[in-house]
Amino acid sequence: MAATTSQPSADLPAANFSPRVKQLLAQMTLEEKIGQMTQLDISTINTTGAAKDVFLDSAKTTALVRDFHVGSFINGEAVPAAQWLRYSMALQRITMRESRLKIPMIYGIDHMHGASYVSGTAIFPHNINLGATFNPELARQAARATVLESADLGHHWIFAPVQDLGVNVYWPRLYETFGEDPLVASRMGEAYVKEIQSNTEISPYKVAACGKHFLGYSDPRNGWDRTNALIPAQRLQEFFRPPFQAIVDAGVKSVMINSGEINGEPVHASKAILTDLLRRQMGFKGVAVTDWEDINRLVRVQKVAASEKEATFMAIDAGIDVAMTPYNTNFCRLMKELVQEGRLTEARVTLSAGRMLQMKEDIGLFDNPMPRADRLHRVGDPTLKAQAVEAARQSIVLLKNEQNVLPLSPARTKRLLVVGPSAESRANLAGGWTLAWQGRPETGYSADIPTLVEALRKEYPGAQIETLPYYDKTGKLSLSSIEAAAKKADAVVLALGERPYTEGLGNASDLTLPEDQQQLVRTAQAGGQPTVLVMIGGRPNIIRSVADKASAIMWAGLPGFGGGTAMAEIISGKANPSGKLPFTYPLFAGHISNYHHDNNENSLDLSDFGVGFEQRGVKYKSTMLTEYGEGLSYTTYAYSGLKLSDSVLTNPSARLRATVRVANTGSRAGQEAVLWFLTDEVGRITRPVRLLKHFEKQELAAGQSREFAFDIDVMRDLSYPNGEGVAQLEDGWFTLRVGSQTARFRYQGAASARNATQPGKTTGTAPTGASNSASTKTTSNAK
Ligand code: BGC
Repeated sequence: MAATTSQPSADLPAANFSPRVKQLLAQMTLEEKIGQMTQLDISTINTTGAAKDVFLDSAKTTALVRDFHVGSFINGEAVPAAQWLRYSMALQRITMRESRLKIPMIYGIDHMHGASYVSGTAIFPHNINLGATFNPELARQAARATVLESADLGHHWIFAPVQDLGVNVYWPRLYETFGEDPLVASRMGEAYVKEIQSNTEISPYKVAACGKHFLGYSDPRNGWDRTNALIPAQRLQEFFRPPFQAIVDAGVKSVMINSGEINGEPVHASKAILTDLLRRQMGFKGVAVTDWEDINRLVRVQKVAASEKEATFMAIDAGIDVAMTPYNTNFCRLMKELVQEGRLTEARVTLSAGRMLQMKEDIGLFDNPMPRADRLHRVGDPTLKAQAVEAARQSIVLLKNEQNVLPLSPARTKRLLVVGPSAESRANLAGGWTLAWQGRPETGYSADIPTLVEALRKEYPGAQIETLPYYDKTGKLSLSSIEAAAKKADAVVLALGERPYTEGLGNASDLTLPEDQQQLVRTAQAGGQPTVLVMIGGRPNIIRSVADKASAIMWAGLPGFGGGTAMAEIISGKANPSGKLPFTYPLFAGHISNYHHDNNENSLDLSDFGVGFEQRGVKYKSTMLTEYGEGLSYTTYAYSGLKLSDSVLTNPSARLRATVRVANTGSRAGQEAVLWFLTDEVGRITRPVRLLKHFEKQELAAGQSREFAFDIDVMRDLSYPNGEGVAQLEDGWFTLRVGSQTARFRYQGAASARNATQPGKTTGTAPTGASNSASTKTTSNAK
């Protein structure tokens, strides 16, 4: 390995540190600066040395702060607010006492869907469900609840939002994403970050957000966590960068790095990603923190460095500021050696330490380092829990509802059978990152969180809500009593799904609904009564074998602690479903595609070869069970009168306004997410069949209609980046789709510019037919 020297990149704008930070840096020793770059896990400072223990060991803490000047600690699990308070108070007190320059420590924590590591808080749906709501206000509310229920406890740095793109349904962290669309992830992440970082109700405190995991983490080729992703530079720019760019533009104070690899290059060692892209192109100025033990991972797993010291050099040289080491202080020793050997300049260390200090100063930590106990009544506030229930309601997607079997009217329902692994589970509703990293055993959840069965009993006070185990006491599948009960019930609710899992512990090699659950569904279906499949879990199970015979299918995802209530209210009809699918639900385990796929990626029609469906006896005409953005309601909507303010756009600053009327034509109020998709009909490189460009969700009373508008911005909506991130704007036709409506228009910038300099030539006219005259494209590069 070449012994090059790393120093701050000369062409990046100089860090703009505050006078306080500059003054501190001027007084700090090398070791103190390295301490600011070091982040340790709770298990290094608690009494038992285990992750779940939130009891501080003062002696361990004192030694780490005194000898290594450690500037940041992380992690924990749900304990009562008062216990967090004691722990954080003692930890900060020791830090302030031992730190020569009185630099407070910053505490980082994975509050992923509400303050999920504090007991008794509002547990919101996971992000995949928020993606289904198409309502960024709900992401804001989740962020608000998080800081209201944890900022006073000394939780300064929230390791959220996950801005990874949920394009790979095998990936066990799909549920942490806002789904497969970059625009939805951008709007949700932006709303979340702004609220976390600028909520004033928690004053005098402020909290830092951490967008993760930069970049390209979410599409590992084999579906398993922290493995290699093969992503071309152009795709990285067009799909994976925007959700991060949106939060960088919103001022996010930190990002956490992807533990995996892109095209074989570990991201923690990639200067191209961490400096050229993140800082030069994207303009990020905050703190880049490693993910869990990832410097070591370069040696142990990825094997791109022969020693931890070399790995440390590579990561810092690439652009890392803070190492989540997280179990030991090797990083401190190795950094010092690297500086002493001349491989890292002290200026490079100063830069990263300064970024960390600046973040501490920005959130007011120097002025208000201690937690406070006088607002603890905020923890467990019922209004926040009510918001979590509403978010769950809006996040559930009705995929199928044959002959309007749903809702099952409480007035006419006498007997419901509810069976399946999630019928009486609280753990399954909230998934991983709830109370503890992997969730808890069922008994670890508070009895006041309604299970689906309990919530249905509340919704159907006059009916018999029966539930039966489908395994007997000896652990054998036992379906005979279910068969008998299914025959007698008015309908059977099959609460299917997965136990909680987090990260690599959720790696899966097959998404097919497990055989025992399939048998359970078939048994219920053999009874002849309507069956309602409720899919609970962090990723879609393949349910082709049982879906056809199901009367209704609901995708509930991971709706959080309000999930039981939300599902029961949708089944009874008290709530009208408004969720739309935030990912493409695959029909087959072996064919996964996204809605923004290339033209030929999803068709089973081989007409290219002169062979249609009929000749081949193909039963399914698509590989998708349900498309992205689809979802049924108990009311109906009619889209009409799509109008464009013009049919031709002639320059990059031209504007086009599209309007459409949406009417609620049914008999009950509903919330409709209006999704605007654009298709670039011909491109120099293959363009996606459609891309979401705008969305808005509104409530419409029965019979009400309203105009929705989308202002098309040429550069934002019609261009796409090349592999270097330079916007490509091509002349040609575009098709706009909203609901059932479509309209075409044309961009003619290059042609118009030519015509302007060549008088006598006429510009093209608006299209009438399907032909596309832009078969040869003119491209202009624009930033
Ligand atoms: C996860 C991160 C998380 C970190 C700290 C890692 O294993 O990938 O998402 O923030 O642990 O707990």
